[in-house]
Amino acid sequence: MVQSFQIKLIKQEKLTHDVFKYTFSSSTEVEFQPGQFLTFMIEKEGERKPRSYSIFDYDKENKGVVFLIKIILGGFAGSVFEKMKIGQEFNVKGPLGHFTFAPDLSPEHWFIGCGCGLAPLYNIVANNVEKFSEKKFVLLFSVKKKEDLILHKELQELEKKYSNFIYLPTLTREEWDGKTGRVQKHLPKNLKEKTFYICGIKELVVSVKDLLLEEGVAPEKVKFERYS
Ligand SMILES: Cc1cc2nc3c(=O)[nH]c(=O)nc-3n(C[C@H](O)[C@H](O)[C@H](O)COP(=O)(O)OP(=O)(O)OC[C@H]3O[C@@H](n4cnc5c(N)ncnc54)[C@H](O)[C@@H]3O)c2cc1C
Repeated sequence: MVQSFQIKLIKQEKLTHDVFKYTFSSSTEVEFQPGQFLTFMIEKEGERKPRSYSIFDYDKENKGVVFLIKIILGGFAGSVFEKMKIGQEFNVKGPLGHFTFAPDLSPEHWFIGCGCGLAPLYNIVANNVEKFSEKKFVLLFSVKKKEDLILHKELQELEKKYSNFIYLPTLTREEWDGKTGRVQKHLPKNLKEKTFYICGIKELVVSVKDLLLEEGVAPEKVKFERYS
């Protein structure tokens, strides 16, 4: 059953110029599958609107639910998060969603996304890469510029730790010593033999999903979550 409960901000950390890692303590223990999200009821000037956020991590000791949130300037939720202080409370419901890991026979699982679409992809990879050591996990992730890379060092560390994990960041608006251009440019060969998890803004999700289906990848091997 979907639960409704209260969460309270206990920690905030700035990860990039517009992405924050927020930890909320929760009035109840949250059992979730990596990839699921909570829906916040955001209140502003007498108006209430639901906004969903993928669970990035769970801190069992503090019953802390962790999110990666990009502040959209002028956005309804963005303008609330921008001014948020430790102790601020929200009513939420969840965990919700079916964008969860369902290992199949594919030897390679590709996780493709942009922006805060990283949150569920990271969570799924971090929770499964060791358990499914016979499979290759590849995270192909785009942001505009180097300054937009989220948890870049942590992902490089994860790549060093697990020989079956490959991290492929790509920049769409800046040259650097790594990959550049849209994620579509860096898709692997033999697409039909792989399974894909795609998450982020509509433009990326729809275009990558359509491309994979046109190339003959079976629909059950293309899982996706749209943020917009
Ligand atoms: C299942 C699900 C999980 C999600 N998880 C996360 C998450 O973990 N982290 C996270 O940051 N967001 C996540 N989102 C997106 C989030 O729910 C909001 O849509 C987002 O925070 C913008 O809300 P807002 O009220 O500030 O902007 P709005 O007032 O809704 O929009 C303001 C303007 O910004 C544009 N806009 C909206 N989102 C984006 C975007 N991502 N990039 C650029 N422009 C945008 C809109 O088109 C609009 O023009 C998720 C969405 C879904 C459906």
